[in-house]
Amino acid sequence: MVKTITILGSTGSIGDSTIDLIERDPAAFKVVALTGNGNWKKLAEQARRLGPAMVVIADASHYGALKEALADTNIGVAAGPEALCEAASLPADWVMAAIVGAAGLKPTLAAVERGAVVALANKECLVCAGDLFMERVRACRATLLPVDSEHNAIFQVFDFNQKDKISKIILTASGGPFRTWALADMAKVTPAQAVAHPNWSMGAKISVDSATMMNKGLEVIEAHHLFGLPSERIDVLVHPQSVVHSMVEYADGSTLAQLGTPDMRTPIAYALGWPQRMTAPTGKLDLAQLGSLTFQAPDLLRFPALKLARAALQSGGAAPTILNAANEVAVARFLAGEIGFLDIAAIVEHTLARLPHQGAKALDDVLAIDGDARRIAKAVKNQSAAAE
Ligand code: NAD
Ligand code: MG
Repeated sequence: MVKTITILGSTGSIGDSTIDLIERDPAAFKVVALTGNGNWKKLAEQARRLGPAMVVIADASHYGALKEALADTNIGVAAGPEALCEAASLPADWVMAAIVGAAGLKPTLAAVERGAVVALANKECLVCAGDLFMERVRACRATLLPVDSEHNAIFQVFDFNQKDKISKIILTASGGPFRTWALADMAKVTPAQAVAHPNWSMGAKISVDSATMMNKGLEVIEAHHLFGLPSERIDVLVHPQSVVHSMVEYADGSTLAQLGTPDMRTPIAYALGWPQRMTAPTGKLDLAQLGSLTFQAPDLLRFPALKLARAALQSGGAAPTILNAANEVAVARFLAGEIGFLDIAAIVEHTLARLPHQGAKALDDVLAIDGDARRIAKAVKNQSAAAE
């Protein structure tokens, strides 16, 4: 049977890996819709190769160029945030949610609302609006398949029928490129150094998040929503080789893990083939050659973002929404050369301190809080201003 597929964020790193898998077995998949943001040329090329019914470019200023590039095809072309939701609403068996940031929230929810099988890479939508998002998943009987490598690993070894016998889950973290750096050196980190991840090839935003370890903080919040465990039962362990992708500890003392080479095509293939396994071109592990795997506790002094994220989860309400929005702004400002590396966490902390943490009931409330946090995070001048 042919599986129909929509990829939200097809022009990114996760989008590339998803398309790579689909193109290896063209008879098994039919693409319904593809979406991108700025890179209309890449989106047009993907559309020509895969022949979807619809392509959407979120940044409407590229609509004309995309439309012209596909003028000799019968592919529908649309632009803007509303059109992203339209694309997600088209009937497709399987939706890859791989837009980066809270911009992915509404389109991913649109797929959830029609009860789709959603492969979730976009962790920010769970951090920004986790309670509301999971409530819609349950109400609409959507199926959520975690793609983030840690959550995918846990999903593979998590016995949902014996959840009461799970004592904790353990998220592994590579520690990023600055795992062994002194704070004084981290202050001088450049965007190019921060996006050069030692083990994974990823988009710029998540690469910076990995370097600050905010990524692991976002993943603790993501895991809380996906697996329904409190913060105290979600551990973080630094594992520089990125081979053990995460673990589940059971009451009888057994710890189950999923291992693999660091290649996102494995967790994506798990979600794409689900409930069956499929073949992926990922390199296989050679443990004898690796020789040893190492583990250590995270250093919260040099990586305060992890502490901030955990505190936001424990505080609850609007705190994770504020954390996520402030972090998105701070990372963009760091990448633009406006602020230093250590300012990222300082700006997030500053923004969290400036706003009340009362919970948001509806999506509009969440988006309003997200907007307030973005305004504050944009206005902070630098680390010293953040500390005032
Ligand atoms: P990326 O930057 O490579 O790609 C992001 C995609 O989102 C692109 O298609 C881009 O056009 C689109 N996009 C950006 N801004 C948009 C906007 N405002 N509106 C609509 N579309 C927009 O990022 P990525 O590395 O592919 O990551 C995507 C998501 O997957 C992120 O949430 C990330 O945290 C998560 N994730 C990625 C990896 C990885 O290995 N890359 C691993 C785990 C989780
Ligand atoms: Mg991850």
